[in-house]
Amino acid sequence: MRIGLDVGGTKTDAVAVSPAGDIVGRVRLTTGWGADEVVKTIRDAVAAVLREPGVNGDPLTAIGIGTPGLVEDGRRVLHAVNLGVDDLDLAGALEPVLGVPVRVENDVKAAALGAHALRGGADRSMAYLNLGTGVAAGIVLDGTLLRGSRGTAGEVGHISVDPAGPVCRCGQHGCVEALAGGGSIAARWGQTGLHPVRDVFDAADAGDPDAIDLRAGLARGVASAVRILILSVDADVVVLGGGLTHLGDRLLDDARAQLRASAAASPFLSSLRLDERVECLPAGSPAAAMGAALVGAAVEEREVLTHG
Ligand SMILES: [Zn+2]
Repeated sequence: MRIGLDVGGTKTDAVAVSPAGDIVGRVRLTTGWGADEVVKTIRDAVAAVLREPGVNGDPLTAIGIGTPGLVEDGRRVLHAVNLGVDDLDLAGALEPVLGVPVRVENDVKAAALGAHALRGGADRSMAYLNLGTGVAAGIVLDGTLLRGSRGTAGEVGHISVDPAGPVCRCGQHGCVEALAGGGSIAARWGQTGLHPVRDVFDAADAGDPDAIDLRAGLARGVASAVRILILSVDADVVVLGGGLTHLGDRLLDDARAQLRASAAASPFLSSLRLDERVECLPAGSPAAAMGAALVGAAVEEREVLTHG
């Protein structure tokens, strides 16, 4: 039995995964604020998921955790601003009390692994594009997460696709994230609301020219990221996830239309059928927690080899 947790700024999603790879229990708790409360939330979630009726007493062998922020050595979380965590040795805090190996992974990378597994694991090349406050991707090749030499593989959010575009928080102009990140769209929209990007879509539908521009920019940013991912690693599919995918078909239809329009003049791009290779993660999908469980399992297998 493995447990995977996706620790988000508001909710922590925990799943128990059987030795056969099936999710046999799932709980969601509100995430506490700050290092001590995040550790407590994870302990509470582990205890709660082990009480789920489908969990039949198989021994717990490993725990994997997906978290925002930078992850160092699979153990330490840095600069996770929406958890109130600046520097936390998460594995070091949990292993003594939980008694099993703990592995920590960036939440987007964990979600990529989980989305791959939940799709049946057959895609030779798959990308997961997370559209939240920021934009980042995780790439799974032959079942393995692509990391690159410094762990920045998949950071497509900071590829500039429009030198005359809006300034990005990274300092460049016209990054994918500056066009398609929820944070950038909300800042440029300038009106407060619980769901600023949905408000932009509604205002665009009502004919507001600024909103129409912002909405078109979002579609261009997503389409650019999809093109980059497919042309770089020939992804069978680019799965969209993250907060903006609550927009569902409104977002997907815009992105597909933009992909078709940008391919219209190019027989090569048209032949790749980019618009047919993008889809949304189903609402409420446990992809990130599932992927975290797989990350935990990887360390468990290595420890078995080391000891055996
Ligand atoms: Zn940038």
